[in-house]
Amino acid sequence: TLKLADRVLGLKPSATVEMTEKVRAARAAGRRVIGLSSGDPNLPTDPRIVEAATRAMRDGDTHYGPPAGSPALREAIAAREARLSGAAYDPADIIVTPGGKFALLAALMAQVDPGDEVLVPVPGWVSYGPCVKMCGGTPVAIDMLDRVDPERIAAAVTPRTRAIIINSPCNPTARVIPADELAAVAALAQRHGFWIIFDQVYGDLVHCGAFHHMQSNETVRDRVFVVDSFSKTFGMTGWRLGYLALPPGTAKSVVKFIQHSIYCLPGFVQAAGLEALSLYDEIVPRYRAMFRARLERAAARLDAVPGMACAMPDAAFYMFPRVDAPDTEVARHWLDTIDVAAMPGSSFGGMGAGHLRLSVTCSDADLDEALTRIARSGLPKA
Ligand code: PLP
Repeated sequence: TLKLADRVLGLKPSATVEMTEKVRAARAAGRRVIGLSSGDPNLPTDPRIVEAATRAMRDGDTHYGPPAGSPALREAIAAREARLSGAAYDPADIIVTPGGKFALLAALMAQVDPGDEVLVPVPGWVSYGPCVKMCGGTPVAIDMLDRVDPERIAAAVTPRTRAIIINSPCNPTARVIPADELAAVAALAQRHGFWIIFDQVYGDLVHCGAFHHMQSNETVRDRVFVVDSFSKTFGMTGWRLGYLALPPGTAKSVVKFIQHSIYCLPGFVQAAGLEALSLYDEIVPRYRAMFRARLERAAARLDAVPGMACAMPDAAFYMFPRVDAPDTEVARHWLDTIDVAAMPGSSFGGMGAGHLRLSVTCSDADLDEALTRIARSGLPKA
């Protein structure tokens, strides 16, 4: 019998996508499930962004375009980086990608040879390990639950270490990594000679304190691949639009992977992105304030549930409370008995076990209803 490649056979399915499918099936069966499990904000894309895409389509922007992305969008992204991170990018070093996920894959494709090791955060986003594996590399988990510890990283470095993935603000913990921890990672990367992938897809949604970008550190600009996305910032998850901001001299090689895989992004999607960036000051503070208000209310209510401890998250739209019960049991119990979907923290690896990830990406009314059901149900009895 014909066998498929280990490259796909060996991959774990995405736990978050599986949960989304489970919720969809339960709803199709007539249950009124409230989803606190997804990373997809319940925000319609601003109509002006939709209009920009429609206009571009009507104007005939429906052909192949430049593999690295439209010059106008790359220029706007470079300007955005200069403004938000302070890092000066030549638009030639920006590559537009179908979402942050493909930016991550392109970065790893460019950095990792078979047998190389990549340090990945745990608990961390479920796609890091699989993307490393698809490139023939080996993910090496580093605990970053409440601290990015340079000693822990140094202990994991081997001659095969090619890169480290740093995600701030972090999914699932919603933690913003402070400047001194980023500086320690930068120093290690320089000392041992490996790349840094900095995933900042939640960087526009910071609620508490300051957000620090890895690329603001001039000493590592020659080794940082920045991954970013329009998905979370503008409620544009389905548009599949993200980018890489690259160290000087690397774009020419990275873009070959784009040429030979997707070729290019649709021009009308990029026109939407350009419009989104022009509306940044209007849209983003509003979204951020809305998530922050939801998080403040929800975190306080979860913290009051016996056996749960929930601090106000630093960023994004995730809460990551500790629970005094096995997290997979809690998630199963809530889905089965109160129709509330939450992600078990163990899906994100490492010390994520014993936590739940709950997102405030549903409507205010649904969120309140879910919190009421959780308060009434509490944790399952051991
Ligand atoms: N990075 C992190 C940490 C994420 O949580 C996500 C989405 O959930 C992404 C990257 C990629 O998102 P997208 O491909 O929609 O840009």
